[in-house]
Amino acid sequence: MLSLSMQRLSCNTLVIGGGFFGAYLAFYTKSFSPSSRVVLVEKENEIMKRASYNNQARIHNGYHYPRSFVTALRSRDNFKRFTEEFKECVKKDFKKYYAVSRINSKVTSAQFRLFCERIKAPLKPAPGKIASLFNRDYVEEVFQVKEYAFDADLLRQQMRTKLTDSGVEVILGCKAVKIKKNSPLGVVVKSPKQLPNSLISAQKVFVCLYAETNELLSASGIPKLDLKQQMTETCIVEVPDELKNLGVTVMCGPFFSFMPFPPEKMHSFTHVRYTPHFTWYDKRAKRKNSEIFRSFIRDSAFIKMKKDASRLIPLIEKFKYKKSLWEIKTLLPVSDLDDGRPVLFKQNLSGVEGLNVVIGGKIDNIYDLCGRIAEIK
Ligand SMILES: Cc1cc2nc3c(=O)[nH]c(=O)nc-3n(C[C@H](O)[C@H](O)[C@H](O)COP(=O)(O)OP(=O)(O)OC[C@H]3O[C@@H](n4cnc5c(N)ncnc54)[C@H](O)[C@@H]3O)c2cc1C
Repeated sequence: MLSLSMQRLSCNTLVIGGGFFGAYLAFYTKSFSPSSRVVLVEKENEIMKRASYNNQARIHNGYHYPRSFVTALRSRDNFKRFTEEFKECVKKDFKKYYAVSRINSKVTSAQFRLFCERIKAPLKPAPGKIASLFNRDYVEEVFQVKEYAFDADLLRQQMRTKLTDSGVEVILGCKAVKIKKNSPLGVVVKSPKQLPNSLISAQKVFVCLYAETNELLSASGIPKLDLKQQMTETCIVEVPDELKNLGVTVMCGPFFSFMPFPPEKMHSFTHVRYTPHFTWYDKRAKRKNSEIFRSFIRDSAFIKMKKDASRLIPLIEKFKYKKSLWEIKTLLPVSDLDDGRPVLFKQNLSGVEGLNVVIGGKIDNIYDLCGRIAEIK
């Protein structure tokens, strides 16, 4: 990794934000054009410490999206690519089950089965021993599916290797504070350890800041994107032995999920009703998202999650709380309609030549982004 010892630096491509999307995009761009100079700046002292770590680690395989056929189909393709390219980071040694609730569900078992047939996702009835873990007054049917988890620590290591091997210059502890709409583009960066203000100029800039995208756009006099944000809590829990080698998702409404979270060797536990603590829209927000994230009082909803979820699986009563991962989840308002998770890619944003913005809905749709970028090369 490079240390920042410059006042001006120029490159062909500057990627801002070293989450999974920024890191992979920098690697992909450099691989496409090995002689070009590609620089990645990340404000933290390590890549992939924010949403790319603080999430549920599910490698989506379509099941989660019965209301968005496009997202489900894209997930099926991307699952294959992700589990192949990052096979060292994939945790497969557990069984995954999807259950359909009898009450308040937006999908019935018959609809779920039909949907899985349509997207050609493997599905079979859960064995009796597993089905008996569920309270059948509430749960209509339980299915065994093919879904894995990724280890975010191993994924970070693998991305660091890809960046180094491909020759991307990574500058850590370096925050982009303003984009100058010149030609070539300029980005003012602050790096507390080195020079207070430096300028990086680039023919192409990719803004990959997820929850903090609009902060940089606003500071640069560029209109905010229409983004919805949720303050989320993912609980990390120890599960009883009977649930150790499995993960469960209850479809499709105000229900819950638990599944292995490999970096902690425990399980993540989320609940559709309690994981989001509050929601806001960037266009109406008065405070910066980074400030909201810093000052938010982290009051866990674990007890509520546990109480509600144990109605459906009584053993959840034995979950032992270890800690919570707090993160802002960024959603496109269109997700309200169908729960889809497309990648947002804006080229030449606000008419600024070479300025591109990316919001990644979920980890595996990096491949959809690469497809879009390959088209414009
Ligand atoms: C609770 C939750 C659960 C989720 N579950 C899943 C799941 O199970 N499966 C799945 O596939 N996806 C899941 N997601 C979505 C997934 O986490 C995101 O799609 C993905 O992590 C986005 O990656 P990113 O690189 O865009 O963002 P990030 O990882 O947040 O990266 C943005 C980076 O930009 C840096 N940065 C910010 N401002 C600046 C600046 N001014 N200058 C320089 N750097 C800056 C940040 O420090 C950060 O490293 C979940 C998300 C959440 C929040």
